[in-house]
Amino acid sequence: RKKLVALVGRPNVGKSTLFNMLTGTRRALVEDTPGLTRDRNYGEVTIRDKSFIVVDTGGFEPTTEDVMLSQMRTQTLVAVEQADIIVFMGDAKAGITPSDYEIVRTLQRTDKTVLYAVNKVDSEKQENFAVDFFGLGVEPIYPVSAITGYGADELIDAILEGI
Ligand code: GDP
Ligand code: MG
Repeated sequence: RKKLVALVGRPNVGKSTLFNMLTGTRRALVEDTPGLTRDRNYGEVTIRDKSFIVVDTGGFEPTTEDVMLSQMRTQTLVAVEQADIIVFMGDAKAGITPSDYEIVRTLQRTDKTVLYAVNKVDSEKQENFAVDFFGLGVEPIYPVSAITGYGADELIDAILEGI
């Protein structure tokens, strides 16, 4: 089957925005992919003659901090299990949070390809916003903007390389 690329990260980092940018649609559901749950959005992406399925692991809007944390842990574990490539997303405007560390530590335990993106770097001038994320101790870090498309080519290249 087509490779599955999961977007993982805290609420509000821009997973759905990147999903929409990659798929070029809002909430494109892949109805005929068997065995996939409904609480996540799946969309097909074709770039330079290669296709993959992208998964927005966001799910429903969490009501409390506790719900948010347990939801995030579950979604990260499901992504690690189901996906072929995992794209971690941080938020350059928010900086690193304890939840980011937790997700990254979980992702470091998998043999799968994990790409680390820092979203909301809307232009070259904002590259310095991503510097904080070197503190996660992982590399490379892809500074991207799901809104302006800044840095998206480099991230997409890395995804396609892993496919
Ligand atoms: P999710 O909860 O991770 O799915 O995040 P969303 O995609 O819903 O985005 C959360 C907020 O961040 C929204 O207000 C978006 O407009 C904003 N956002 C998403 N991507 C970017 C970006 O690249 N740059 C900026 N400046 N804002 C962004
Ligand atoms: Mg979302």
